[in-house]
Amino acid sequence: MPDDVLDLFRQSGALLEGHFRLSSGLHSDRYLQSALVLQYPEFADALGEAIAERTRHLQPTAVLSPALGGIVIGQEVGRALGVRALFAERQEGRLMLRRGFVLSEADRVLIVEDVITTGGSTREAADVATDAGAHVIGAAAIVDRSRALTGLSLPLFALVKLEVAAYQPEACPLCARDVPLSKPGSRS
Ligand SMILES: [Zn+2]
Repeated sequence: MPDDVLDLFRQSGALLEGHFRLSSGLHSDRYLQSALVLQYPEFADALGEAIAERTRHLQPTAVLSPALGGIVIGQEVGRALGVRALFAERQEGRLMLRRGFVLSEADRVLIVEDVITTGGSTREAADVATDAGAHVIGAAAIVDRSRALTGLSLPLFALVKLEVAAYQPEACPLCARDVPLSKPGSRS
């Protein structure tokens, strides 16, 4: 499955390989934009099913995703598991449940994201569920590019692990080889 997942990303232009300037200013040899793979319903469906297969044993009663990046895959995972799919949105810098979404102590919540990078939004979404009284049972993502540095205390299920190098421009080996630099669109 890991190779298949990266193939879906490549086929839809969601994984670019080359030499990129990220919005952080760092240079990288890879660029991920999961919205480009999730725009294809059959790919979104397959990825949602794959995450559901790996997390069904946790017996979640709801999926909670941080907006915006997690919403599409969260919906697909919820559909595959047959449970509610909720999302948390940022208001004045804090993630929260809006739109009448409710979680209670009866809920076993799976946090779902597209890509886990630092684990920050996963932790925040878990806090939202915990603050609502629910039980957070795990986290899942299509891609884990965290290099296991998230410090998450939750079990994490990812379809693929992807190391994405990030270099200071002056230490960038691609610059050193004069590989042309591109600046992709909005960062995932
Ligand atoms: Zn460079």
